[in-house]
Amino acid sequence: MYQGVNASEGIGIGTVMVAVDPDLTFDPHEVSDTAAEKERYQAALAVFCEKTQAQADHMKVAVGEAEAEIMAGHIMLAQDPGMTDAIAAGTCAEKALVDTSTMFENMFLSMDDEMFRLRAADIADIRTGILAELLGVEVVDLSVLPENTVVVVHDLTPSMTATIDKEHIAGIVTETGGRTSHSAIIARALEIPAVLSVANSCSALTNGMPVIVDGGQGIVIAEPDDDVLAEYQTKAKEYAENKAALEAFRGKETVTADGIKKILGCNIGSPDDVANALDHDAEAIGLFRSEFLFMDATELPSEEEQFQAYRKVATALKGAPVIIRTLDVGGDKAIPYLHMEPEENPFMGFRAVRYCLENPDQYKVQLRALLRAGAFGDVKIMIPLVTCVEEVRAVKELVEECKKELECEGLKYDENIEVGVMMETPAASLIADKLAEEVDFFSIGTNDLTGYTMCADRGNDHISNLYQVYYPAVLRSIKNIIESGVNAGIMVGMCGEAAADPLLEPLLISFGLEEFSMSAPSILRARKTISQWTKAECDELAEKALACSTAAEVKELLEAAAR
Ligand code: PEP
Ligand code: MG
Repeated sequence: MYQGVNASEGIGIGTVMVAVDPDLTFDPHEVSDTAAEKERYQAALAVFCEKTQAQADHMKVAVGEAEAEIMAGHIMLAQDPGMTDAIAAGTCAEKALVDTSTMFENMFLSMDDEMFRLRAADIADIRTGILAELLGVEVVDLSVLPENTVVVVHDLTPSMTATIDKEHIAGIVTETGGRTSHSAIIARALEIPAVLSVANSCSALTNGMPVIVDGGQGIVIAEPDDDVLAEYQTKAKEYAENKAALEAFRGKETVTADGIKKILGCNIGSPDDVANALDHDAEAIGLFRSEFLFMDATELPSEEEQFQAYRKVATALKGAPVIIRTLDVGGDKAIPYLHMEPEENPFMGFRAVRYCLENPDQYKVQLRALLRAGAFGDVKIMIPLVTCVEEVRAVKELVEECKKELECEGLKYDENIEVGVMMETPAASLIADKLAEEVDFFSIGTNDLTGYTMCADRGNDHISNLYQVYYPAVLRSIKNIIESGVNAGIMVGMCGEAAADPLLEPLLISFGLEEFSMSAPSILRARKTISQWTKAECDELAEKALACSTAAEVKELLEAAAR
């Protein structure tokens, strides 16, 4: 049994598939029998095309026609005769393939049209596929998986999750990452049981091994015996039944036991996630992480592209509010085409609003798109990583500039758009009263607030005991932010992962939190928890929690009180 971080709850029972980067190194050499070398290349190409066709057929059914066409397009590109010409001149097949494909790749990359530039990534995929066949190396393709696969990877990147075969994944195990790392957030949104930070799991777990992933407990059990398997099959059934029971809360108001109204929001990373949020009964979008729009592109998305994306969300919500966070670049969110200088300490460096204010022309593109989308729904702008009033005022000035420009251009926009602060730094917490005078709302980002308050990186498992929201320092900070906002009469929400923690929710009710925003699958459970507490009961518990000296005491108290 292996213990890791309980990143996404649920029980997954399946078979291991280890996804490691394939070793595609080779020794470039000259060949004398070019005909035989061409034959070797053609044989590898045939296998590649056959596998790709099988993937395309599967994708057509499992994912969609458009994605299947992209795969089928790979076959056409791979069969381009240019790929083999270099072999005739005496170059080995591997080198001929790498040289020719790199030439095509660079040619596509230099084109103005986005469509063509995207083909460069296809060429790179084709190169990997054929090269692997030539070298006899296995490449794990996460987009087409056998049923009940438990994927074991060193780290699950956002780009991997974009193509992953969600239908057939029973669980995810990684060697790195914590509960609030983006891989964990994505796994929860996809409702895939996940255990992260299992040391050496890529070597300890091997392909084909039967395995159980208990995402709630953070446990991975390899080669379970019949008794253990039966026990977990029962647990999986119970988990599914409990989930089904939450359906009773669908369509209901979110209110405490004594009738105080709360808002349950959902966190999203793309306009396409809105449908899933609404499916899970979200009442608002409490956080749209706009940086994913930037991460999925190969250059800065234009005002029009951003406007379309934000408007799509605003209209889909039919009047319900959406808080869109402006570009939160840096830290663990790299955007290669921005070519930002490497930093000694990127989490305390040139990132988020700091980067945006240094690049006002670029920032205004996003602000204009947000203002324009505001004409189609209830769009609110949120500024990430604020540490001082000056930053907020500077952003608000840019917003005003953008409004004037849009007015002159005769474009529709929301002249009363709300601007709020993501409360995620100790500095912002300490001046919460001052910030509350400047903005329309707060949303507490406990993922960063916990890390910066405790000086503990959210992804570093060596210090994961320090990265806990139950520490008195973090609780006091949260209380101060909520009370400062409430006193100033502005809306206070929370979009960090702590909003979905059933242990913490009674304390948040006591402090006066209005909006709880989380990943879609947590929404009905949170509505149930909120419905089980009166304000007076929450206040009594909060008083005891705030009197505790250690995180362990707080957690023990909250666990004993949990309903
Ligand atoms: C946070 O910091 O709490 C947050 C919600 O933002 P992110 O996880 O994207 O940093
Ligand atoms: Mg953050």
